[in-house]
Amino acid sequence: MPTIVSDPKKWQKLRAGLKGSVGFVPTMGNLHEGHIELCRRARKECDHVLASIFVNPTQFNQRSDYEKYARTFDADCKLLGEAGVEYIFNPDEKAMYPDNYELQVTETVISKELEGEFRPGHFQGMLTVVLKLLNIAQADKAYFGEKDFQQLTLVKKMVEAFFIPTEIIPVPTVRADSGLALSSRNGRLSPEQLKKATEISRLLKSGYSDEEVMKKLAEAGFKPEYVATKWGRRLAAAWLGDVRLIDNVPLSEVKKDRAA
Ligand code: AMP
Repeated sequence: MPTIVSDPKKWQKLRAGLKGSVGFVPTMGNLHEGHIELCRRARKECDHVLASIFVNPTQFNQRSDYEKYARTFDADCKLLGEAGVEYIFNPDEKAMYPDNYELQVTETVISKELEGEFRPGHFQGMLTVVLKLLNIAQADKAYFGEKDFQQLTLVKKMVEAFFIPTEIIPVPTVRADSGLALSSRNGRLSPEQLKKATEISRLLKSGYSDEEVMKKLAEAGFKPEYVATKWGRRLAAAWLGDVRLIDNVPLSEVKKDRAA
């Protein structure tokens, strides 16, 4: 069983006594194979592995979404232990926000488009908590999934801009056999919706234009928010019922001809 630490200062003391490199995997819990893949990479590349479980209130747009977020701490600890994670950082809100949310990180360009347009304030909350977590973790490498590609792009930008001495390692998206990107939110889809959700990755990889993919998602019963080509990827966000799904694929996986 991994050692659970909830006090930032306690972890920093523990970390100062560790010999060798530390790999860090930040998560919001409710873990699946995608998160575990990040841990496996960290295990392979670092002498010690720390994962964090913290459901960050400031990156949710609605309080109800934050409250509905599945919390499965015991099962998460078991999975992390099996993946070779030695330490779990599990702070409460007070420990993470001693400033009472008065200090925030603002990025003014990338954070305003795509996800940022539909989730105002989300990236400010995300960057703020990631800065805190990176400063607490004092890790050599931190692992982030390509599943949240805009997030990964912003985290890399922040690390460079603020001279944070941690290397950001991107990890390719883990998918179900159906092609659906694994996500904690998939657990809220009905069996029928789960089947339909596979259309997102299929259409992203198709030869249709971004506008055509938007149209086809709408025809299939989604409420698409955007389909866009950026950073060498094709990205999309769409609602299926009351669940918001995001995905993206590298352009090398997008078909050149129009046949879906
Ligand atoms: P979350 O718990 O949703 O904040 O995600 C924690 C980390 O896991 C982030 O870096 C995500 O990008 C990453 N992640 C989530 N789903 C996947 C997936 N299907 N494949 C790879 N990484 C993922």
